[in-house]
Amino acid sequence: MKILLVEDEIGLADAVGAILHKEGYEVDIANDGKAGLDLALSDAYDCIVLDIMLPLINGLDVLTYIRVKEIETPVLLLTAKSEIDDKIKGLDCGADDYLTKPFSTGELLARIRAMLRRKGIPVDINPKYGDITLDIKKGELICGTHSVVLGRKEFQMMELLISHSGQIVTKENFVTKIWGYNNESEYNNVEVYISFLRKKLTMLRSDVQIKTRRGIGYCLTGGK
Ligand code: CA
Repeated sequence: MKILLVEDEIGLADAVGAILHKEGYEVDIANDGKAGLDLALSDAYDCIVLDIMLPLINGLDVLTYIRVKEIETPVLLLTAKSEIDDKIKGLDCGADDYLTKPFSTGELLARIRAMLRRKGIPVDINPKYGDITLDIKKGELICGTHSVVLGRKEFQMMELLISHSGQIVTKENFVTKIWGYNNESEYNNVEVYISFLRKKLTMLRSDVQIKTRRGIGYCLTGGK
């Protein structure tokens, strides 16, 4: 699995590159738009993580050009909070997803996995937290020698919790990321699915627990 990372903030590029490498991806880094475009045109990548504000050629122009050249590599755009318009333009130019800076590494990894899955590219990296592992191919939650099948929503919620390990995931985060819109009636669903996941963690005899931070959201504990 080969990823092209185009990011001009050298410190950030190196840190993200190191994380991706640790996760088992092969990573090439370009620190400006021109170098990024040259590498992208080689069509040698499974995924491109592309910053928008770049020297020489900006990210949106890089994206437009590679799509003109009929290179269909999935692209995850990195945007600053102030670049909302660019985000919309980016999706119009053929980006597959975007991530707003600053982002957690867990979220970046989850977005990359989701993007690869949508493109039908097999993802063999299973998210882990403490003694639990999510088997992406089988849709199972595993603890030691025990495993249990998760429903689609349960799976997505557990993936979100693992990708934000050490942080609180709000009910609003769950609703907007999993149901795709902000609807009051979905807030109760979050509680229902959290209770299903807790039962399954107990069945698996995992040390991991889903803690409620009342009025805020949920987080994983007990794993580390
Ligand atoms: Ca930049």
